[in-house]
Amino acid sequence: AGGAAAAAPPAELAVGRAERPRDLVFVTAEAAPWSKTGGLGDVMGALPRSLAARGHRVMVVSPRYLAPSAAKRYEGIKDTGVRARLNLNPPGAKADGGGGVHEVGFYHLHKDGVDWVFVDHISYHREGTPYGNAAGTYGDNLFRFSLLCMAACEAPLLLHVGGHRYGTPPGLPYGQNVTFIANDWHAGLVPVYVAAKYRRHGVYREARCVLALHNLAHQGAHPPRTFNSLGLPGEWYGALEWVDTGDNGAGGGGGGGGGPGGGARRHMQRVPTINIMKAAMVTSDKLVTVSPAYAWEVCDDKGEQGMGLTSLLRQRMGDLQGIVNGIDVGEWDPRTDPYIPRNYHEGSLGGKGLCKAALQGELGLPVDPAAPLLGFIGRLDFQKGPDLVLGVLRPLVAAGCQVVLLGSGAADYEEAFKAAQAAFPANVRAHVGFSVPLSHKILAASDILLMPSRFEPCGLNQMYAMRYGTVPVAHGTGGLRDTIDDVNPFRGEGFSRAGGMMGANDADRELEELFEKGLAWGRPTGGRSADDPSTNNQDYYEPFQDYFGSGGRYGAVADGAEEDDG
Ligand code: ADP
Repeated sequence: AGGAAAAAPPAELAVGRAERPRDLVFVTAEAAPWSKTGGLGDVMGALPRSLAARGHRVMVVSPRYLAPSAAKRYEGIKDTGVRARLNLNPPGAKADGGGGVHEVGFYHLHKDGVDWVFVDHISYHREGTPYGNAAGTYGDNLFRFSLLCMAACEAPLLLHVGGHRYGTPPGLPYGQNVTFIANDWHAGLVPVYVAAKYRRHGVYREARCVLALHNLAHQGAHPPRTFNSLGLPGEWYGALEWVDTGDNGAGGGGGGGGGPGGGARRHMQRVPTINIMKAAMVTSDKLVTVSPAYAWEVCDDKGEQGMGLTSLLRQRMGDLQGIVNGIDVGEWDPRTDPYIPRNYHEGSLGGKGLCKAALQGELGLPVDPAAPLLGFIGRLDFQKGPDLVLGVLRPLVAAGCQVVLLGSGAADYEEAFKAAQAAFPANVRAHVGFSVPLSHKILAASDILLMPSRFEPCGLNQMYAMRYGTVPVAHGTGGLRDTIDDVNPFRGEGFSRAGGMMGANDADRELEELFEKGLAWGRPTGGRSADDPSTNNQDYYEPFQDYFGSGGRYGAVADGAEEDDG
């Protein structure tokens, strides 16, 4: 009820107010600027701020990746002193009967209206990306992200950080009536824990869960025996079990690790797995994908974008919605970008020319305004089609183009990038690594941004490119279809709200509308009253009973399923 003491949002964030502010808890493996390997990090760094500016109370829970080289980034973020002992043993099991008991800490920063909560555990303190290092994907990611999910379920109950919804008294926990937004499989156990662990004790009955699908190529599929280390009651095995029936072209191109000529799906054998993404799909109230086109593609049973989960996604089509990711128009603005040598706007394109000349000079390419400069920025993964760019270098070079490549990822692509520079020293530069400053410079300097993704749930670089007057050349797939405007470079300019964070579209408002229309309080998913204390948890999910599987049929299968994560 907005008392006099209520802090007003900063004026530049006043972008319209939610009619019914909610308590939102985002759970994510990445949040920029603290952690980022791709678009997930960007979106989790921006969308929560945008929703906070609309009056929601917003918490973002992610790991505290305190590698020595990253320590600076976490400076000034306070230890709340709160510790939680998280039990990854199945209920009733002996102490050594499962995943063990682990203590986590909670660090907190209130910034831009958002409660940024960082879960601390030694398994997050490694050098590398959130998911792995040069030696490959970490073998204990299921453990690391189970901890994240369990900690995220505890955070709204334990942390006295909730002084920040405008008009509420300071220092209260968020409490139980929150809306969780779980991002991809890393956060996928949140709705499962809410269902299987909390609701049976009467906690989080009115909480709601939205699963945000950023990329179905990574589902968190693991061997069935790992179920015992998740802290879940045995009768919930069926909610996680998934046997890839190959119902939608499994074995075709698509996700996974890839590599040149790679891309074969890894779950071609019909072996049972536990699949975290699947479990999240059957326990979440709503599903969102990061673009409408991707929502359509993942449900298309003639396509393969559902990556083996199409039949389930089709079942949940009524609860599935595509909302295009927004971009942070504060960070990605050629008028103010601190990383580029000359700021510019649509009326001063000379500045863009200077950015081009500067990058050519910096990289030792001929400084030639007439040479078309083509950029590529992305994870070096089969999905992004770096091999497709490499495959056309020869004719591009023959036509007088310069090509600047920035990326890191699969080792064979990294080698191929370096080889391309060696093969075309007068025209091609390849920077293997992750560099945010260079990504800004390439966007500003390039005439054309190449984005030949084989599939693209949303994609952000094409939107950044359009704000920088750089023409994206892309495959017509997924979010690229939804966002690329053929005739309007500098897109985003006209769409940005004054001072708003999310420029290219209204992801925040669309999500808010989904909360209002799709997640009304007191309307449990299964059509049954969640207030009934006798409610059996699985009945709550009655509409999806088919997908709860056989309840342990495969419990004896020890191995056979490869792990998949990212
Ligand atoms: P995805 O999430 O699939 O990786 P997006 O296009 O949605 O793809 O987002 C990619 C984000 O990651 C962009 O901000 C892009 O600039 C950034 N990025 C990708 N690779 C690199 C890199 N090697 N160096 C710097 N930034 C990168």
